[in-house]
Amino acid sequence: MAGETLALMDAGAVRGAVAAVSGPSACPDCGHLRCAGWESVGAPVQEPLLECIGSLRDMAQDEPTLAEYHPHGTHYWQAEAPIALAYFPYNRCSVWRCRHCHRGFLQYTEYGGYYTDHRIREVDPTRLA
Ligand SMILES: [Zn+2]
Repeated sequence: MAGETLALMDAGAVRGAVAAVSGPSACPDCGHLRCAGWESVGAPVQEPLLECIGSLRDMAQDEPTLAEYHPHGTHYWQAEAPIALAYFPYNRCSVWRCRHCHRGFLQYTEYGGYYTDHRIREVDPTRLA
């Protein structure tokens, strides 16, 4: 699915589209994906395991902010970090869910000077901000 065809989702849309899964999942399809916080994966996790349901990248903005949102002193990699959709890196993610159990995931590719790193984080709806 091409990026420009994806619907822009806000926190309410994400919350309504994914299962209220919090913590480890026993799903036979996606249970092996352990990513309460951001995890580096070699390549995007795609169909048929996960289906892409939308985007958090607002194409009306030239360049989404690189600011992060950590009101309680968390940092980027922590499982306790809020899933703050208007902030980095959530503002450039695509939204996915497991076809089997509807657990939600966010994915994006980090572009460094000499590398690209694909990352995935599951959506715990209680952490959406
Ligand atoms: Zn699943």
